[in-house]
Amino acid sequence: NAYAIKADKTVDSVCPYCGVGCQLTYHVKDNEIVRVDGRDGPANHERLCVKGRYGFDYVKHPHRLTKPLIRKADAPKHAEFTVDPDKWSEIFREATWEEALDLAAKGLGKVRDTMGPNALAGFGSAKGSNEEAYLFQKLVRTGFGTNNVDHCTRLCHASSVAALLEGVGSGAVSNQVSDVEFAEVIFLIGSNPTANHPVAATWIKNAARNGAKLIVADPRRNDIARHAWRTLQFKADTDVALLNAMIYTILEENLCDQEFIRTRTSNFQALKENSKGFSPETMAPICGIPAETIREVARAYATSKGSMILWGMGISQHVHGTDNARCLIALTLMTGQIGKPGSGLHPLRGQNNVQGASDAGLIPMMFPDYQRVDNPEALSRFEKFWNRKLDPKPGLTVVEIMDAACDGRIKGMYVMGENPAMSDPNAHHAREGLAALDCLVVQDIFLTETAYLADIVLPASAWPEKTGSVTNTDRMVQMGRRALDMPGDARQDLWIIQQLANRLGCGWTYTGPESGVAQVYDEMRLAMNSIGGITWERLEEQSSVTYPCRTEHDPGQSVVFTEDFPTKDGRAKFVPADIIPANERPDGEYPFVLITGRQLEHWHTGSMTRRASVLDAIEPRAVASLHPLDLDALGARPGDTITVASRRGEIALAARADDGIPRQTVFIPFAYYEAAANRLTNPALDPFGKIAELKYCAVKVKKGGTL
Ligand code: SF4
Repeated sequence: NAYAIKADKTVDSVCPYCGVGCQLTYHVKDNEIVRVDGRDGPANHERLCVKGRYGFDYVKHPHRLTKPLIRKADAPKHAEFTVDPDKWSEIFREATWEEALDLAAKGLGKVRDTMGPNALAGFGSAKGSNEEAYLFQKLVRTGFGTNNVDHCTRLCHASSVAALLEGVGSGAVSNQVSDVEFAEVIFLIGSNPTANHPVAATWIKNAARNGAKLIVADPRRNDIARHAWRTLQFKADTDVALLNAMIYTILEENLCDQEFIRTRTSNFQALKENSKGFSPETMAPICGIPAETIREVARAYATSKGSMILWGMGISQHVHGTDNARCLIALTLMTGQIGKPGSGLHPLRGQNNVQGASDAGLIPMMFPDYQRVDNPEALSRFEKFWNRKLDPKPGLTVVEIMDAACDGRIKGMYVMGENPAMSDPNAHHAREGLAALDCLVVQDIFLTETAYLADIVLPASAWPEKTGSVTNTDRMVQMGRRALDMPGDARQDLWIIQQLANRLGCGWTYTGPESGVAQVYDEMRLAMNSIGGITWERLEEQSSVTYPCRTEHDPGQSVVFTEDFPTKDGRAKFVPADIIPANERPDGEYPFVLITGRQLEHWHTGSMTRRASVLDAIEPRAVASLHPLDLDALGARPGDTITVASRRGEIALAARADDGIPRQTVFIPFAYYEAAANRLTNPALDPFGKIAELKYCAVKVKKGGTL
């Protein structure tokens, strides 16, 4: 009984899992977390989900890396391998930090000096702190000399950010999740928050219980639909048809906010022109929602005193992800449902620090605070700030980097806390790219599938073992505090980045407690106006401050765009969207649609949650969910092994019946290395956000297979 154990100390921090950013208190005894309680943080008010409450014993798992590792000369590298962290010594030998860091810097430096800076790339992490993200991108830009730096935002909300920057001038949310309390209508689309943002889902459920009209639109009928006023189980891939039909209705029925459109927006005429072919009656057979239902939800959304739109990966992970988000932005602008409490836009961020890592410049086209690398003013500012000549061209994105690794343009990579061998679309191709590198340096806490292919593995710190700030989906910059000592010779990530940077000629001198974290943060504040008013001391004292916060007396803005938009002319811009079909549609050979995603208990590639005993006990094996009638048609029963194959690979896993899944569709979480869903997925990209179509590809399913 965890409550019976008397802790040595308590430490206040933030949950390391999803973007909700729940504040919590670790109870620690003998360097172990024996219990976790929710704190009264602004995003959670003492609530935690199963991951935040029970998902921490991964830090003590015997698979933790405790020594630097160097690949043995005779250990083969190839894309097909069986993951067995217990057999690491067949592939690697232990090394000292000096030897490992020297070898890593030598390998990366050799690629830079012989093939040029753009033969290098780095993947940072949305699981680390803001300071780590900032320092990592600074190393890639100044030490490697390239903008080839990215992270999992490219697999997540990059298309939403592209549409938001273009439309409203800011890639972050306009209102916080808890603002649903003030909304009369909540339009939730392409999101399964009870699994992926569980505490955020509780605010939505509370609002629905208190009378808000909750509209849930998703091809899968998921748990939160039980609380919905209207559920729109539209056909997968038809988001633009559905949303444009709503736009058409609002125009046709004169439900627009003309004053808002006139004074705060531009390009409305283009939206009007574009909408002409999208009447609900025409779109109903395409999206599978009756015309009158489309009209009903459009009216409710447009005419309420406050309407909030929240969305997830179901919107963003399509070749038309940016178009999907453009339509959502248009809905808010044409109705004036933005810029006030209970009215706004909220792309629900996935990982605990994907917002902060993007803000800190861990993306190939932007310096910190979304200053474009190809903007001469921003370039000159950062060249002075970092005292280095910088590359003026945007770098490659995640999938582009893997393509470049496969064809030999990228020869060296530094990967900190990401697992592209599991998370990237068409995982076999990604693994081929990683295996082909001359030098792969992986910094992580476990020997992940990516680390299996590394030349040098650097043992890093888990979230409860370090101090740093993270930024949640609500734009709250929050303080995480160190509760535990690191195991063996593992080191703080900030220390490792700096050691490597200095071996590559950066000459950094960050010092102070926790590898100089406060000093790095102070530098970030100078580079990023949005957090200029949030001092380290303020963060230590208040634990959470919302940006934009430009002066030290600024309380921070929870609702933005109240007066104008952060665009050149202060106006938001309508960008119309047409229907673009999925890149790979079902056909006679591959008749099912594959949708990938997450589960409540497992987080992303599973490297942490599958090593958390309670979470893994609840969901111990890979499952594929299908409609019961489809299972019947396959001659399979729940629990039977089935094989799912696409044009890129096949996996075998257990079948689960779920009548919320549409017919001829299969849903597979991507957390299971033994049945990696991304072996099947399609790497086709959205042209603007460069995000892959992880929510839609063609597969075939049959009973049987070998687990
Ligand atoms: Fe952690 Fe997210 Fe769960 Fe909160 S909702 S406890 S942040 S995983």
